Amino acid sequence: MYKSKILIVEDDPAISNLIRTTLETQEYQYHTAQNGMEALMEVTSYNPDVMILDLGLPDMDGVDIIQKVRGWSNMPIIVVSARAEDKDKVDALDAGADDYLTKPFSIDEFLARMRAALRRSHAEGAKPGEEASVYINGGLKIDYAAGCAYVNGVEIHLTPIEYKLLCLLAQNTGKVLTHNYILREVWGSELDSDIPSLRVFMATLRKKIEKAPSSPQYIQTHIGVGYRMIRQ
Ligand code: CA
Repeated sequence: MYKSKILIVEDDPAISNLIRTTLETQEYQYHTAQNGMEALMEVTSYNPDVMILDLGLPDMDGVDIIQKVRGWSNMPIIVVSARAEDKDKVDALDAGADDYLTKPFSIDEFLARMRAALRRSHAEGAKPGEEASVYINGGLKIDYAAGCAYVNGVEIHLTPIEYKLLCLLAQNTGKVLTHNYILREVWGSELDSDIPSLRVFMATLRKKIEKAPSSPQYIQTHIGVGYRMIRQ
């Protein structure tokens, strides 16, 4: 059986040990790096399936590592950091991180995020260069060729913007998308002043796809940061 390869980039030995022990119980294989230079070397030589990345490293800022890696790789990156400010999360996610955990974190949550990242990585690897024509996630289905979306087999009527928004979230399932990223991709805008209209579109989209829009099953809100489509 293939064991997923994880790269742990962390200069704090206690946290590095905790993550290593956790990965061992789950039969993942891993390499560790204690600084940015080692991390970049491991990314090319070890070719991990997922990178777990601390932002505060002795020689480099984690955000710079994300930017460098994104120059040639789509590998999922989960940031694990003590920095809890929304701005730090947004910077890391905008640079191309997939997900963000704030220290201290729960092991269960860490493992859930890892599984989500690995599913994304394997799903992408399974069909190189070709887009799936149908997206299925629980009761949600998007037929890209027909441009239609369905919830529990019933077609839902979306405006063009709502449909674009849904497709963008679906194509990045498991990944936190920042407000600015969504605005850029859907509206071609990056103005913070457009965030309120994004909220309005999100509210109308949720009314159409969620059973209980106030406790959404599909689209999760990250307050001050953005949104994420949850794999069911
Ligand atoms: Ca650190």
